[in-house]
Amino acid sequence: MPLVPMRQILDEAAKGGYGVGAFNVNNMEQIQAIMEAANETNSPVIIQASRGALQYSRLIYLKKLMEAACEEYPHIPVSMHLDHGNSLKTLKTAIDLGFTSVMMDGSLGEDGKTPNTYEQNVEITRAAVEMSHPLGVTVEGELGVLGGIEDGHGAGLTDRQVQDHLTDPNQAEDFVQKTGLDALAVAIGTSHGAYKSGRKDPKTGEVLPPTLAMDRIHAIHEKMPNCHMVMHGSSSVPQELVDIINQYGGKMPGTFGIPIEQIQDGIKHGVRKINVDTDSRLACTGAIRKVFAEKPAEFDMRKYLGPARDAMKQVYIDRMLAFGQAGHAGDYTPMSLDEMKKVYGK
Ligand SMILES: [Zn+2]
Repeated sequence: MPLVPMRQILDEAAKGGYGVGAFNVNNMEQIQAIMEAANETNSPVIIQASRGALQYSRLIYLKKLMEAACEEYPHIPVSMHLDHGNSLKTLKTAIDLGFTSVMMDGSLGEDGKTPNTYEQNVEITRAAVEMSHPLGVTVEGELGVLGGIEDGHGAGLTDRQVQDHLTDPNQAEDFVQKTGLDALAVAIGTSHGAYKSGRKDPKTGEVLPPTLAMDRIHAIHEKMPNCHMVMHGSSSVPQELVDIINQYGGKMPGTFGIPIEQIQDGIKHGVRKINVDTDSRLACTGAIRKVFAEKPAEFDMRKYLGPARDAMKQVYIDRMLAFGQAGHAGDYTPMSLDEMKKVYGK
């Protein structure tokens, strides 16, 4: 089946009361692992690529890999989404490649560092919608800014700055209305990467787990029950995956992730898309380190990339089950971009 507009995947998720994992990809092994997991759990799925990933895979390779994924698993609804687009030009590149969904991250300027004003964010996001909807393409926007390292588009704000830039539920309503977007990325204190907290205990200096402003999600859902929210930086960073890395020569102390229960609470309150990148990186790295440590003479890349693919697949299966998307692949007939155009045209 051809790629599905993300809007439909989110609308169906809302009907079914579940969330859908949006997994970042850079290469063939990741795409295969996601598709195998989706196939085994019978899940609709969102595959996303950042600007960094597009650069790394040199565009055309990613496009062809996506086509292969759809061809191999025709019964699985898949959307291909651009993560953190920084300009209309980047969005256009992704749409031309066949992406069925794009994120216009207007919370930051084109440099990916300087926070935009609210008015600038409204303007660029509105322009993204005006460009994409006539093509049937879904648009995600972001209000408030996220901390941590974003791949290709990151503020790297301090914890203090993150707390100052949480999504304001009243502003969210105005933002959705003015832009006409399909999905709203909210800033509730999550950040990208494996170190989701800049907070330290003032007395002991110990790194503390992140505090999430779930009440913002609850408030937005109350105001706009039909608004699809997106949680970024939502890897759970399971300690057992970090332990494997550290056991085999890695050095990743003090990592923190987002507990699955908090994500599930979000899903009960309108979160439909959950971005997970770090967890698969951890699984991949741990599996490769393990082979290298246990079999130092091994140099056949299939012997370490194979286990890496298996380890990533397990992470995806776990998330698909936890988010509730498992079992829903056959619930609906996927729409084409042409059909979606008509919906937007009404
Ligand atoms: Zn993000």
